Amino acid sequence: MKILVAVKRVVDYNVKVRPKADGTGPDLANAKMSINPFCEIAVEEAVRLKEAGVASEVVVVSIGEKTSQEQIRTALALGADRGILVETGESLQPLAVAKCLKAVYDQEQPQMVLMGKQSIDGDNNQTGQMLAALAGIGQGTFASEVKVDGESVNVTREIDGGLQTVGLKLPAVVTTDLRLNEPRYASLPNIMKAKKKPLDTTTPADLGVDIAPRFEVLGVEPPPSRSAGIKVADVAELVDKLKNEAKVI
Ligand code: AMP
Repeated sequence: MKILVAVKRVVDYNVKVRPKADGTGPDLANAKMSINPFCEIAVEEAVRLKEAGVASEVVVVSIGEKTSQEQIRTALALGADRGILVETGESLQPLAVAKCLKAVYDQEQPQMVLMGKQSIDGDNNQTGQMLAALAGIGQGTFASEVKVDGESVNVTREIDGGLQTVGLKLPAVVTTDLRLNEPRYASLPNIMKAKKKPLDTTTPADLGVDIAPRFEVLGVEPPPSRSAGIKVADVAELVDKLKNEAKVI
């Protein structure tokens, strides 16, 4: 079985992002970029399925600037077999990404598409769901366990207050949650080997995809900074303030 994994290049989760002075978006100049953490979990799961003999090929796809090749190479070093870059200088919205992925899905005909549940830059949580709808296939989102059983897959989902297991006919889209696995580190020999793995490049135009934006970001601002705390003399004063000023008790 072939697995297609979608990986997004995003600002590294350790970077403290600040908005640009004009509020049009986050300031990413010189910021460290990485694979979106949920996509890394998707790569790990695909590689584990390959190591378990369930999957035969793991293909990684990323949509973005040429620099997204770095994240594809990282995924190849983690164990994926080949990569596809859908190159564009435009910043794509989830529907456009889902349409590009649908075109790659049609070309590659994978039995499963593994994706992150959410990209940590846009916090959209939309692309997997949109891809499943465009492709007319099932979806198991927020997966904390994935068990392939012949022509179907059981996905245990993290939902409010518990777990839900859904059975899906393959092909299907599965989006990963944090507890699905702990991604491995790429070893130096595997990083070297990854440089020789195939990486094809295409474009949204080659795929015949309309990437026109459907919404406009009106502003980006940081959360309000915390005001300074105060010291109270005793418990009685604390209780008084909680009751009469904060009105929380
Ligand atoms: P989102 O809907 O933006 O929160 O993203 C959910 C998932 O969709 C990500 O974890 C990726 O697996 C996939 N995805 C989103 N944008 C891209 C992109 N530009 N290239 C590849 N995969 C993407």
